[in-house]
Amino acid sequence: MPSVPLVSPDPSILFTIAGMVPFIPYILGTETAPWPRAASVQKCIRTNDIENVGRTTRHGTFFQMNGNFSFGDYFKREAIDFAWELLTTAQADGGYGLDGDRLWVTLWEQDAEAYDALTQGIGLDPKHIVRLPREENFWDTGQPGPAGPCAEWHYDRGPAYGPEAEGGTVDPGGDRYLEIWNLVFDQFVRGEGQGKNYPLLGELDHKSIDTGAGLERIAYLLQGKENLYEIDEVYPVIATVEEMTGKRYGANGEDDVRMRVVADHVRSAMMVIGDGVRPANEGRGYVLRRLIRRAVRAVRLLGVDDVALPSLLPVSKDAMKASYPELETDFARISDVAYGEEDAFRRTLAAGTTILDTAVARAKDQAHGGAVVLGGDEAFALHDTYGFPIDLTLEMAAEQGVQVDEQAFRDLMTAQKERARADALAKKTGHADLRAYESLSKDLTSPVEFLGYTDAQAAV
Ligand code: ATP
Ligand code: MG
Ligand code: MG
Ligand code: MG
Repeated sequence: MPSVPLVSPDPSILFTIAGMVPFIPYILGTETAPWPRAASVQKCIRTNDIENVGRTTRHGTFFQMNGNFSFGDYFKREAIDFAWELLTTAQADGGYGLDGDRLWVTLWEQDAEAYDALTQGIGLDPKHIVRLPREENFWDTGQPGPAGPCAEWHYDRGPAYGPEAEGGTVDPGGDRYLEIWNLVFDQFVRGEGQGKNYPLLGELDHKSIDTGAGLERIAYLLQGKENLYEIDEVYPVIATVEEMTGKRYGANGEDDVRMRVVADHVRSAMMVIGDGVRPANEGRGYVLRRLIRRAVRAVRLLGVDDVALPSLLPVSKDAMKASYPELETDFARISDVAYGEEDAFRRTLAAGTTILDTAVARAKDQAHGGAVVLGGDEAFALHDTYGFPIDLTLEMAAEQGVQVDEQAFRDLMTAQKERARADALAKKTGHADLRAYESLSKDLTSPVEFLGYTDAQAAV
């Protein structure tokens, strides 16, 4: 199946976050799949990984998920065999040619069938199987319905990247074990319960297989790179940033992170615009806005104040167009949106810079010869009203010999986040309450009298 757009076809999520998203109705059994099996290379956006970008070796905000799926057709043993075959078959014979002795698998601890398929079936060393509780390796939708265990394949990059895994983990710290492929065995019917604490009511009649393998992660292994920002689809932007800034990738850890952020975010922004999203202050458009702003800011922190996207976006497009020719044909539109947003952000920066300079001058006046400190409330106003990011405030204040009360700023940010969370929770529970009211109203036998104006307790 071709990839569906990044704008999720499932209205409950903003973006397509996994290969299974277009197949959800078949997995839930609410629709019958038109075919028993499918495979896809699905474009994905995961905003939850935004802070990881550039810091881990493996997280992109945009990435592609390779997946194979079964809707009531093959099941666990075949899925495990297929994964092993593709991962370990020599490249000359159409596989990825990874060394099977370096593969590790995490399993749900009670999944004896998967354990047998791995040990007896394909002969994986039992030392390379890590059995984990339901909290770690069990998939569900958050509601009663289908659920099931996962088996996750990890590749051991070797002792240069950290200590050997032992004692029930493949995450002993460091970047040694790279998760490459998640196999979900959609096997059980689950009942009511919080989190992973629910009963398994029995086996599904219609079992499904849902798998996801990160294309960029596998590419980074097969191309012999250190991380997914160095693969052929991403690295050309880093090389261009090197030229623009005169800085060499690999020379300074923080600069390297910035270069990776630029390359990742430029690509993600391009793909998101390509699928029809426009910058906005909320929803998908806000994610796009954030991607562009973070990319532009990272370039500035690398020391270049000029417009950046006209130099970078065409490079990212050229690196991606073999798989996505529509990027080329639609590039005039895509670049218009991106460059317009960079210009808008540059105006924001310009306005914020004036405000910052005024605030710094005021702080200097008030310091009376002591240490000059910009208040957390000023930094927060810059952030909140002018979209002026704190690290830029910190850096530009430092250039003028001024400190920022960062703690006060963080406290204000936390307070704001808590307000947002409370709002979101109110919305969520509002939704749940609605259903509760609906079922309640069905049980009513007499009209309800409204006591809110007379009875304070009832009003609460
Ligand atoms: P991780 O633990 O590394 O964050 P995950 O467990 O969140 O990954 P899954 O939800 O299991 O990932 O997704 C299936 C596969 O998709 C992963 O095994 C990985 O190969 C790939 N993948 C997931 N998130 C990303 C990402 N942000 N960038 C690149 N590939 C990803
Ligand atoms: Mg993750
Ligand atoms: Mg994981
Ligand atoms: Mg996973």
